[in-house]
Amino acid sequence: MRYRLDGVRVFDGIDGVIDRAHITIDGTRIVDVTPSGAPPPDDPEVRMIDLTGYTVIPGLIDAHTHLAGGDVVAGAADYATSRRLGESTATQAFRTVEAAHKTLRRGITSVRDMTGREYLDVDLAAAVEAGIVRGPTVRASGVGLTITGGHVHMRCTEVDGPAEVRKEVRAQIKRGVHWIKLMGVTGGLATVGRHPLAPQFSLEEIVAATDEAHRAGVRVAAHAHGAEGIRNAVEGGVDSIEHGLFIDDELAEEMAKRGVFLVPTLMNDMKYQEALARGDAMGSAVRQRQRLADEGRPIPSPEERMAVARRHGVRIISGTDAGGNALVRHGDNAEELVMLVRTGFTDLEALAAATGHAAEAVGLPERGRVRAGFAADLIVSRADPTVDVRVLVGGAGVDGVIKDGRVVHVSDFDVPLAPLIDRG
Ligand SMILES: [Zn+2]
Repeated sequence: MRYRLDGVRVFDGIDGVIDRAHITIDGTRIVDVTPSGAPPPDDPEVRMIDLTGYTVIPGLIDAHTHLAGGDVVAGAADYATSRRLGESTATQAFRTVEAAHKTLRRGITSVRDMTGREYLDVDLAAAVEAGIVRGPTVRASGVGLTITGGHVHMRCTEVDGPAEVRKEVRAQIKRGVHWIKLMGVTGGLATVGRHPLAPQFSLEEIVAATDEAHRAGVRVAAHAHGAEGIRNAVEGGVDSIEHGLFIDDELAEEMAKRGVFLVPTLMNDMKYQEALARGDAMGSAVRQRQRLADEGRPIPSPEERMAVARRHGVRIISGTDAGGNALVRHGDNAEELVMLVRTGFTDLEALAAATGHAAEAVGLPERGRVRAGFAADLIVSRADPTVDVRVLVGGAGVDGVIKDGRVVHVSDFDVPLAPLIDRG
């Protein structure tokens, strides 16, 4: 099918805004973006959709999700219960599909998944690509690697020493991962008993992982909170730092120099503060944060962390940790953009961190832009996210979602895209 969106305001995914343009979509791709005023290509077979007054931006990319098993059970203090570890893989797969649907309806058209269960993310990626399941394009990391007893050992593969790391990386590449997730680079806030900042994998083990992965064209992400762990990961050659709570000037400078990007998952901070105010923050997170405060090392605020990273030009990418804990839920992903704005980004910079820049960072070079030749992954909005990203929260301003050229969601039947809806 060939169709044209007429009269729309366009954000291109990096920094360009066109006030009025025509966007032509043929099959799965954008084939033309022409500013109004200039005549669009003459094409008698194109179906024209008048979207005057609407804004079109690239579909959002969330660089840090945990889709496998869907949302974490709120209020359950026990890890096995909260992650429903007792459920069959099939039931977990159904929950994964439900989370994928919700994510896509809210306009998140691609995700990088940062650890799942039994390769559900790898299989979801393939199922979406094959058209079996409707969902965002997935860059999958399979099952995270951690040290014996390390961070999230309940759900990761425990490996010790460079030889075991290498073997596990090879096995995961064989199974089809696009990314390797090194979970045990430092402790975390969710795994009580281990210090949240203490390094776990050695530099040697990290080098074994990046060497093995990079030779196969697979990238490596490191969960890291403490400065020493971040340093090990950056020196060890990882491609992204997840969370990075204790990033400092020296680390930020090195990350910028090496092109290592940062996924700060600021929604974790926002949701934790909200839960604390409500009085229902989880025990483990409260205890781990208190432990750091007692040691005189309170977690720097999102504003402080972003100031350090931005001062040195670190590439910051939007990622939420949706499904990583009970506070951050699938479908709420756009709230990360609000946090980026709260910590100093302009609305356009926040959008770019979740579209054009995110696509490049996670390894989806044909997505994340509204440009000829790119995949037609788009959000259509009556509101204007380019001047206020808050309109995307909760899907309120997400009036249409186009995935690979197909209209997969409209907010109501007054949206001119409605006749094109593909109920699949
Ligand atoms: Zn996570």
